[in-house]
Amino acid sequence: MWYNHGNIVNNTIASLERKAKNMKFTAERTVDELGRVVLPPDMRKEMNLEAGEKVLISCENGELKITKAKPRCKLCGADMSEDDQFVICLRCIDDIRSTK
Ligand SMILES: [Zn+2]
Repeated sequence: MWYNHGNIVNNTIASLERKAKNMKFTAERTVDELGRVVLPPDMRKEMNLEAGEKVLISCENGELKITKAKPRCKLCGADMSEDDQFVICLRCIDDIRSTK
C-alpha cells in the first residue's frame, strides 16, 4: 500500500501547531526582595504586552493572575474599549462639550 508520507507529516505538523497554540505557558520565576518577577519574553509576545503597558494583578483561591489592564478614561477612570482612539471617554467628551 502506498502512503503519501509528505501529507501525513504536514497534517501532523499542523496538528502539533494547533495544540501548541492552545497550550498553557508556564514558567518558574524567582520573586525578588521587592516582590518583582520578570515576565518571560514568549509570554509578553503572546499577550502583545509592550514595556510601559499596565497589567491587572488579581489574587484568587491561592492563585495570582496577571491580565492586560483595560484602558481607562484619564478623567473619570471609566473602563474604555481596547480599540478606543481617545484617552477620555465619550461621556467626559460630552461633559466638556456641554460646558462651552
Ligand atoms: Zn470619562
